[in-house]
Amino acid sequence: MSRGQDLTIGIDVGGTKILAAVVDRHNRILGRAKIATPAAQGETALLAAIVGCLEEALREAHTNIEQVESIGVGCPGPLDTKAGVVLSSANLNVQHFPLGPELARVTGRPVLLENDVRMGGYGELKLGAGRDYDDLLIVFVGTGIGGCLVLDGQVRSGATGNAGEIGHTPIKPGGAKCGCGNRGCLEAYASRSAISRRIVKQIRRGQPSILRAKLAKLDQPARLKSKDIQAAFELNDPVVREAVERSAHRLGLALGGMINVLAPQRVILGGGIVEALGESYIDLVRASARRQAIADPAAVVEIVASQLGDDAGALGAALWSREHQHRHAPPASNFPVTEQPAFIEP
Ligand SMILES: [Zn+2]
Repeated sequence: MSRGQDLTIGIDVGGTKILAAVVDRHNRILGRAKIATPAAQGETALLAAIVGCLEEALREAHTNIEQVESIGVGCPGPLDTKAGVVLSSANLNVQHFPLGPELARVTGRPVLLENDVRMGGYGELKLGAGRDYDDLLIVFVGTGIGGCLVLDGQVRSGATGNAGEIGHTPIKPGGAKCGCGNRGCLEAYASRSAISRRIVKQIRRGQPSILRAKLAKLDQPARLKSKDIQAAFELNDPVVREAVERSAHRLGLALGGMINVLAPQRVILGGGIVEALGESYIDLVRASARRQAIADPAAVVEIVASQLGDDAGALGAALWSREHQHRHAPPASNFPVTEQPAFIEP
């Protein structure tokens, strides 16, 4: 059992679920909890859900908040990380939500808020498929598509603070409408939502598919789950296979382009779709990327699956907050950002 404040909590706030993990100094998860995001109910419900999730993770770890040094939160944005405020989030249905200060007030612990994708990437860099590498592009394919850029062992946010936004790479001029307002973005062709839309469209055109009955029962047909897509993909359903191959092909094109520009040591693929479809999906992405990556004729750049799965974001957020809590410690620690982030004190 731990003594003193040597635990950290990482929370990954997503549009569909919230994950919390209590992490010790050896980066072991002592307790975790996962609940559905009350995405349509506004900020009070969202804060209550996050606190509930955190409390459950503490119970699971047989400890309490007194043992916790700091809390890291990964959240979709845009964010004001200095003030700990979620400026807006369509998926979470909040505007100017002071999540950091509220969570610090309720828990009495310092809170560090960061972009969720960057936290997932940081987890993979420190503990997952990015260990022992310095230059990485980490891409999560789920409801949307997010990316995290690591150069020289550091997570980069760039001049805009938003480096890594690979989901809005143009793939087709004047193409499908994207959630960002533009047309033809990668996300509009390769995310789970895009795969679902493609499946629905083909079935409505009369193509035979084992998902036809399932879709008839859903009120929002574009909300197929990754596991529904996975099951039909494994049964070689022609509609699902075509939609998945199309997604993988376009993701590969974008990644091939990124490999030409960045030449990372590894491209790491994670997120719900990659978790569900596994190596057969990565093989498709890899084949497409290799054709496009003309600057890498020897195929030096590895394209691999993430290793932390669902835990990447929460683990990354916990480690991030711990690293920065010790930013005044001796210079051994290698801080991953050029600009120091700001804890929200309780
Ligand atoms: Zn877009």
